[in-house]
Amino acid sequence: MQGAFAEHVRALEKSGAHTRLVRTSEDLEGLDGIVLPGGESTTMTMLMERTGLLEPLRDAIAHGLATFATCAGTIVLAREVVDGMADQKGLGVLDIAVRRNGYGRQVDSFEAPLDVVGLSGKSFPGVFIRSPLVESVGSAEVIAQYDGHAVAVRQGRIVALCFHPELTGDLRLHREFVKLAAAS
Ligand code: GLN
Repeated sequence: MQGAFAEHVRALEKSGAHTRLVRTSEDLEGLDGIVLPGGESTTMTMLMERTGLLEPLRDAIAHGLATFATCAGTIVLAREVVDGMADQKGLGVLDIAVRRNGYGRQVDSFEAPLDVVGLSGKSFPGVFIRSPLVESVGSAEVIAQYDGHAVAVRQGRIVALCFHPELTGDLRLHREFVKLAAAS
């Protein structure tokens, strides 16, 4: 729809997946997994509503479509968006509450090394850009934290991050997601 999808396509293809851009509900047909990229969550949900993708996508994810979300994508998935636009609609399938731009505005973008559950080797370079702040986590499992807040969670076949692995050249999280999607 919108946002940093080209970088995800590159990272997924390098991780051995075949990719397809999803813009309509027909594009969901036959997918093993979907990535909801970073960008502008309000624009994304508005476009998804307009094109009729919102409900079919919610159904597909609720029925177990493997889903990898970064930043704005995580906002789109969240059960609750604190301080969102008054009419901000989302998918509401991931049991977390997030605050949009919770770390501040663009100038407050930052990088931090993260320990991510299930990743071996060195810490993961967390690139945060106008990132949402996870205010509370319900039934999702926290798989990485920064400064006392969850920055990566997993719930069933959903993996959602506040940072941008597609901008780092570190493919470990994309590879793990390709494995998760293939194990359907
Ligand atoms: N602040 C953006 C939003 O609310 C997310 C930023 C990002 O995806 N890098 O959608």
